[in-house]
Amino acid sequence: MKDFILENNLEGTHKFICKECCRETSHKIISSYCENGSEDHGGGNSVDWTVKNQIIQCLGCENISFRVSSTCSEDYDVDIDGIYHYETIKYYPSRFEGLKAINIYLLPVEVQGIYQETILAIENEQNILAGIGIRALIETICKDQKAEGKDLNQQINSLHEKSIVTKEGVDILHKLRVLGNKAAHEVQAHNKEQLSLAIQIIDHMLDGTYIIPHKVSRVLK
Ligand SMILES: [Zn+2]
Repeated sequence: MKDFILENNLEGTHKFICKECCRETSHKIISSYCENGSEDHGGGNSVDWTVKNQIIQCLGCENISFRVSSTCSEDYDVDIDGIYHYETIKYYPSRFEGLKAINIYLLPVEVQGIYQETILAIENEQNILAGIGIRALIETICKDQKAEGKDLNQQINSLHEKSIVTKEGVDILHKLRVLGNKAAHEVQAHNKEQLSLAIQIIDHMLDGTYIIPHKVSRVLK
């Protein structure tokens, strides 16, 4: 048994993650189409669910997107206060708080492709693929910068010799290389916090290696 309720221009504001603002901001729910379902399992038992399909708008940048919030009588956990049902939330397009995508069009084509796919993997919580993507990104940057060495370990060291990365930067890149190896060879997923920090470090490197030099060549001729 199912029923559907449509509500428009709901009162009040809500804190949701905005893809453009890259953080939690106040949003208005423009429209919500709610599905309430129940499946009778006999003996007085049933599985009940609610799915709210919402068109939302950020009150800061005015960006419009889509949010789906679902709860189910079977999705519950227990804490000191007893049983509670948790809400599963998905955004379309997907987003990740704090992740500010850089202007990829100033990057070499090969770097652009792997960068975009790694960001998509992080946003969609595909954490193993994101870890592999981070390692592939470092490899692609090394190749583009003609880093020398027979393996990624040596190539990262050569980035420092070429003054592309500082000594501290090299240590961090080695940590990301190990993180990528664990994802690729041990199928180990890293958490959101690790992946977010990894992409921030890579953004910083891309900024210094490609984006700032491009801006300097354009503005300070
Ligand atoms: Zn916004």
